Amino acid sequence: MSELRPIPISRPHFGPEEEAAVLEVMRSGQLAQGARVEAFEQAFAQATGAQYAVATANGTTALFLALLGHGIGAGDEVITSPLTFIATANAISQTGARPVFGDVDDSLNLNPRAAAALIGPRTRAIVPVHLHGNPAEMDAFTRLAERHGLALIQDACQAVGARFDGRPLGTLGTAVYSFYATKNLTTGEGGMVVTNDAAVASRCASLRHQAYSSTPYLHDAIGYNFRMTEMQAAIGIVQLRRLDEITSRRRSTANLYNEAISHSRFARPTVRRSDVHVYYQYTLRTPDEATRDTTRRRLDQAAIATGVYYPVPVHQQPPYRDLRSEPCPNAEDAARDMFSIPVHPLVSDDDRDRIVAVLAG
Ligand SMILES: *Cc1c(COP(=O)(O)O)cnc(C)c1O
Repeated sequence: MSELRPIPISRPHFGPEEEAAVLEVMRSGQLAQGARVEAFEQAFAQATGAQYAVATANGTTALFLALLGHGIGAGDEVITSPLTFIATANAISQTGARPVFGDVDDSLNLNPRAAAALIGPRTRAIVPVHLHGNPAEMDAFTRLAERHGLALIQDACQAVGARFDGRPLGTLGTAVYSFYATKNLTTGEGGMVVTNDAAVASRCASLRHQAYSSTPYLHDAIGYNFRMTEMQAAIGIVQLRRLDEITSRRRSTANLYNEAISHSRFARPTVRRSDVHVYYQYTLRTPDEATRDTTRRRLDQAAIATGVYYPVPVHQQPPYRDLRSEPCPNAEDAARDMFSIPVHPLVSDDDRDRIVAVLAG
């Protein structure tokens, strides 16, 4: 056993091009937000099909700015999924708004019917999360947002490169991305707002940089320092060029897992045929928590890392418990019976076979 090579749950996929890009920035003398950030924004807007992109320090600040850009603030309610990284709810709370959690469906994404049932007089926005890289039901959310005059902001932090009904996510309205170290496209830390609304884009760009105005050192409001560095942008530009290759390797590994588990006791979240799921995580459902835990132990003994994303739904987290949200039984069940196995592009053909063998055993 001891000679088994460990297979981590995630690993950044950097090569000599990323290294050269960082060195070039260091030697250029221009380290803070400049031409490379702008070039990354342009390339990213194009890749996601959006008209505008605003780079930020991380995904949390990107979501926070996108909410402010859409006018969300104190007294507002924002409907979102409880089955997400806590940052989604934190960014909502930091604007002064209150997150309202709707249950998920078999895709593990916010159920549009659950969201519809939660719309009230204070509701101002819906934030669907494309969990694990699997697109949420954007058609239903778009109709719902239009009917009720709500902002629709996608938490696409796990879904760079994903498509809904064949369309890149930036064509569906405002979306936010994270380039954290484990994400499909990484700059170490980093984030991006994409939008087709010029006013939203300019508010985000201004607030990111101390609410600068068109007059130098005259500021329109109390802003923030949420800027991205040129080092991050230089890495991002290279990673974006390699994104198709990264995504197709993740998808091919996922397809292999899909076949391997098709006649097993494991199930998986539903994926719409017309969507491109980018497999930030490859997630399995087990019959119960005990099976989940023993399966994870067997994988661990074979030096295969696993993870649960996420073991405590956000409405049950200490800072959110007091909101006394509606129960979200599907999210709570998933938190008990799901787990994720390595699917990142550095999982080799041999690694995949090892993982499949343990799952079958
Ligand atoms: C990673 C992530 C975030 C936050 O991004 P950071 O870059 O870590 O701030 C928000 N929402 C989801 C769903 C994420 O996966």
